[in-house]
Amino acid sequence: MGRILAELFSFFFPMRCICCGSVTGGDAFCSQCEQWVEPDDNSDPTQPGAAFVYEGSVRTVIIAFKNSGGHEAGRTLAKLGARLLQQTLEPEPMDLVVPVPSGRTSLRRRGYNPAAIVAYEVARALSLPLAATALERSPWFKGQKGKSAAQRIASMQGVYRVAQPDKVAGKAVLLVDDVVTTGATLAACSHELIEGGASRVICFALARTP
Ligand SMILES: [Zn+2]
Repeated sequence: MGRILAELFSFFFPMRCICCGSVTGGDAFCSQCEQWVEPDDNSDPTQPGAAFVYEGSVRTVIIAFKNSGGHEAGRTLAKLGARLLQQTLEPEPMDLVVPVPSGRTSLRRRGYNPAAIVAYEVARALSLPLAATALERSPWFKGQKGKSAAQRIASMQGVYRVAQPDKVAGKAVLLVDDVVTTGATLAACSHELIEGGASRVICFALARTP
């Protein structure tokens, strides 16, 4: 698109802050909301990588994203997250992007899996193939609210399984979730992917709870 056309477009469709909706002139967050965006600087290699800390403006956007109405905002945040990931991943080429599957109930309620949308944007940004249904989640599994980290990990046995082994076999998989809390979900999915033949797994979440 030509520059003049692009300017015209931004005149008619001004970029709005994905958090509060005020006009920003091209940035995802307005200067007010940007103050409440914390990039995740956790460098602990045993923890899954995240782009942002789940608080402030990022938390607001993700809550809207996960409870519908904030679909576009969620996509924009995912694109920003993918860009951050791109910078840290450079020396480690990956083969495939796989999202953490969501449960049937939440899928029916929302009509979409937020992790799959984040994975889609990550795959696009990194020019990697996406295997959106490589993993699947058992239909009988209930949520994890109110459980300790140990209870979560114990109750995760057999929750996820590789539905498409041919897609993951021998591949370096980038496993993507929307928000990581204890890391139990990512750990369970990573385990299944390795069991299912993946050569290695790197985890990435859009945000990590503080
Ligand atoms: Zn704002």
